[in-house]
Amino acid sequence: MQKSNRQPAVTRDGTEIGLQANVELPIEMNMVKQAGAAGIGLLRTEFMFMNRDDFPNEEDQYEALRGMVEAMNGRPVTIRTLDIGGEKVSEGLISTLGHSISSPLGLRGIRLALARTDVLETQLRAILRAANHGPVRILFPMVTMPSEVRRARKILARAARGLKRDGFEVPSPLPPCGTMIEIPAAALAADALARVSDFFAVGSNDLTMYTLATDRADEQVAKMFDSLNPAVLKLMQITAEAAARAGVPISICGEMAGDPRNTALLLGMGFREFSMASTNIPRVKKRIR
Ligand code: PEP
Ligand code: MG
Repeated sequence: MQKSNRQPAVTRDGTEIGLQANVELPIEMNMVKQAGAAGIGLLRTEFMFMNRDDFPNEEDQYEALRGMVEAMNGRPVTIRTLDIGGEKVSEGLISTLGHSISSPLGLRGIRLALARTDVLETQLRAILRAANHGPVRILFPMVTMPSEVRRARKILARAARGLKRDGFEVPSPLPPCGTMIEIPAAALAADALARVSDFFAVGSNDLTMYTLATDRADEQVAKMFDSLNPAVLKLMQITAEAAARAGVPISICGEMAGDPRNTALLLGMGFREFSMASTNIPRVKKRIR
């Protein structure tokens, strides 16, 4: 581990900032530790669902997640439930789930999970079992409105009851449940979402895409994809203020969080938790210090 990675991420006026890692694959865990990440702020679970036309079973998901939770040695791991859809699809999944999942406005993220509660419940069982091995938070993607979070939490409670019936240990209390704020409607409804969420994670990638009607995967409009566009920043500000009013912790985990040129702006907006590709942590830490 480099020296800078052992230094705390503290501003000159003594404010501590949490720098966590975004993770897409188990193979990244060594890098995460070397970067001195305070935890995993966004564990994208899509890797378990891609390149196949069926769904992974509970045992396989549990084994993969447990390995990553244990590798963090007691540091928190925020596990996002399946965020399939939009650009995160494969031919196999389209043939199983239909074309709507490949539309950015279609059956994706939490919508798909709530349409296939069997798939969500299996994943939540795996997450709850992994949570016996270290501190875990659960994060719901692509939320538009509070009713989706309430329904997902009911399925979590059902998963917990089922596990107990089957003789498994279940963490008590259940892990905190957070909401990704990455759809403009969610940012505008942040006060209401704060009442059903234990934390917020701002996904500036999708928030930028939906606010500016600019496909994040389309190179021809890449120049328009600007997370610093005032309209995007305004939605982030609304979200940060709602979180502060409600006392709900808020982090930012889109690409912009990993660019040190944005660090001062994000701190000024009230963000104290950042999650980014682990390779960016040292540069952002330097900027914070
Ligand atoms: C985001 O949308 O900003 C985000 C962090 O999630 P993903 O990039 O996985 O969609
Ligand atoms: Mg997203």
